[in-house]
Amino acid sequence: MYIAKECLELRRLTGLEHLRLNFEKEGLQTQHPICQRLFPNLASSKLSSLIIDMIPRIDRTLLSLISRSFPCLKVLKLSVTERLTVERDCFCWCCFEDVLECCVHSPIPDSYGDVGLLAQSYAAALQPLFQLIELQLGVFLSEERMVYQHMVHPDGQDSNCIATSPSTCAICEMFSHEIRIQEEIASRIVFQNLPNLRQIRWSTFFDRPSPGNGLKDEMSFRIGWATFERKDESLVRALRT
Ligand SMILES: [Zn+2]
Ligand SMILES: [Zn+2]
Ligand SMILES: [Zn+2]
Repeated sequence: MYIAKECLELRRLTGLEHLRLNFEKEGLQTQHPICQRLFPNLASSKLSSLIIDMIPRIDRTLLSLISRSFPCLKVLKLSVTERLTVERDCFCWCCFEDVLECCVHSPIPDSYGDVGLLAQSYAAALQPLFQLIELQLGVFLSEERMVYQHMVHPDGQDSNCIATSPSTCAICEMFSHEIRIQEEIASRIVFQNLPNLRQIRWSTFFDRPSPGNGLKDEMSFRIGWATFERKDESLVRALRT
């Protein structure tokens, strides 16, 4: 929070091209006020790459503020779901639920009724960013209940009551085909609205795990990225590695 007080100092960074912010200490209530105070003071016409780690939610308000403040962005990477994998004292389901409640990791269906509505809303907010080449929206497109339903699956926790990820669960895996279709639908909508976009990625339980996302090997809550690229005029899912 102290950074808000020093905001005016940031105006001196007139040549800023790359900016990476960490919102781990912010919550659903403070996210927007902080962005509103911070962004106007950072608004540099030279900023081409913006990364915000551990943002509590990605919504139209945030994306509109970003596109108004930084119209020349070529790279935009936002992530909510990293909050679920961050180092903490206890990885049991009870403590994990507290972490889940403090962010909007799966905006469907509470924030957006379905994947089409979500993608249209995001795409409309991002439309001013016509130079955007690479976009990361770190939320799940599976429904919010997937995480909670997994909790009671036989593989929902390991022998130490530690929360496991749907990515390693045979029951959740049955929904993977449907979710992969949803990820493709959303990507297609965003690509249509951003003509220069080459790559988009979403958080997912059903694709390649992200390298170096801070997970220790023993931590079992695995999250991956669903990555799509524009090849000629068609949409291609980047292969698992
Ligand atoms: Zn615990
Ligand atoms: Zn607890
Ligand atoms: Zn499951």
